[in-house]
Amino acid sequence: MNGRVSLLGAGPGNPELLTLIGKRRLNEADVVLYDRLIDPSLLAFTNEKATLIDVGKMPLHHKVKQSKINEMLVSYARSEKKVVRLKAGDPYVFGRGGEEAQILKKEGIDFEIIPGITSAIAGLAAAGIPITHRDFASSFHVITGHHKKDGQQLDWNNIASQEGTLVFLMGMAQLSNICQQLIKYGKDKKTPVAIIQWATQWRQKMVIGDLSNIVELVNKKGLSSPALIVVGNVVRLSEQLNVTRPLKKVHVLVPYSQRQRLFNMLGDLGATADFYQRTTVKSIPVKLPNLDSYSAILFDDFIAYKKFVQLLLDCGQDLRALVGKKILVGNDSIAKQLHNQGLLVDEVITDKKSTGHLLEIGGQYPMYEDTEFLSLYHRQQVKSLLFDLTEFNAVIFPSTVSLMDFKSALNHKQVGQLKNIIAFAMGKSIGDIAKRMNFKKVINCRPNINATIEQVKEEFAGD
Ligand code: SAH
Repeated sequence: MNGRVSLLGAGPGNPELLTLIGKRRLNEADVVLYDRLIDPSLLAFTNEKATLIDVGKMPLHHKVKQSKINEMLVSYARSEKKVVRLKAGDPYVFGRGGEEAQILKKEGIDFEIIPGITSAIAGLAAAGIPITHRDFASSFHVITGHHKKDGQQLDWNNIASQEGTLVFLMGMAQLSNICQQLIKYGKDKKTPVAIIQWATQWRQKMVIGDLSNIVELVNKKGLSSPALIVVGNVVRLSEQLNVTRPLKKVHVLVPYSQRQRLFNMLGDLGATADFYQRTTVKSIPVKLPNLDSYSAILFDDFIAYKKFVQLLLDCGQDLRALVGKKILVGNDSIAKQLHNQGLLVDEVITDKKSTGHLLEIGGQYPMYEDTEFLSLYHRQQVKSLLFDLTEFNAVIFPSTVSLMDFKSALNHKQVGQLKNIIAFAMGKSIGDIAKRMNFKKVINCRPNINATIEQVKEEFAGD
């Protein structure tokens, strides 16, 4: 039996512009081969066992040859893997998706095409340019600026005579030639042109000019690939329709979690949030200690509490085993979580030195001095962080554990890159640990999401 290959469109850049089926296929995949333009956050949707292969650079920073990619697709599918070939935009808009499909067909591999939102249309919208408009353009034409080596030429006469919007992909190296050809074949020199780089993302940049001056403007502003070249009168609408939001240029790392409230609120303010992976929790098998000898129980975190309840149940006991003992925790948010479980906390201890004879229950290591410690779980790092951290403005830590997860995923180079990043710590104790790292600045926020978002706004809005 064969596996299957999904040629999957990742959308134009912003990870939220992935389709629902695209997200599901990523989650089901055994192997994902992804391109240079793919936002690594999308890989957070994969399951922890999936093999992730960057065919955009690899292994010594050379692009993997197309023939090698084809070979990998076929051989993984033959070994019964569910393979996702994750491609920028829509898989069949340039980027050689059609060729990959032909090979799969020829080799008898089961394959499917999952459409994606193409940058050729959505990229314009993200810059306030409707690709058609009754007053300006009644058609659009998507054209490659890059040709096969065998000298295939574009039909400039035909292209220049279209009244509709012209969109060139992969055209930045040819920008000057494109403008010259369009003028030569009859387009007015004053036809508006927009160059949109990294459309739909935090680093989106745009320059607007016309066929006669756009090359000079692009050089001055330093725009380069990947970018869209848009030619036509619809470009005029950008000034009126380009929507700006307060955190538009802000790029933030947040922990990957199911609730995603932080992620959503940041996105709604225009920021691009990407995920860092959380570790998975594995129980450590232990015997239930004799609880009679302790007058107080200190829970390090909510996971420890849940594991402890499970341990009690496994031993045929329940929370009544805690009768008469003081319940202690390290911060307000754990106290609130226990409250939601019907357990009142006697004291939130802020001092790392504990007092009295107590049992601390936690993960791998004790957080307090002079306690007896019951270790109930440890964390397994799932994936290293794939991002270049120089591309981020900020990282948010909702908990000490999220900070630890983040820290343990960093390689040596990334540790050095922290100096450009502002850390938002949702609680003072988290901030204290963050201050010992290399961050540009650590901002302590109150431990709730609204307050944190306000702090982020205060720091970045209007930049
Ligand atoms: N299949 C993709 C296009 C692949 S060709 C799609 O449907 O969008 C690669 C070219 O796409 C780049 O050279 C650039 O011209 C364009 N491109 C892709 N993503 C882009 C983005 N976010 N912003 C601007 N241009 C982009």
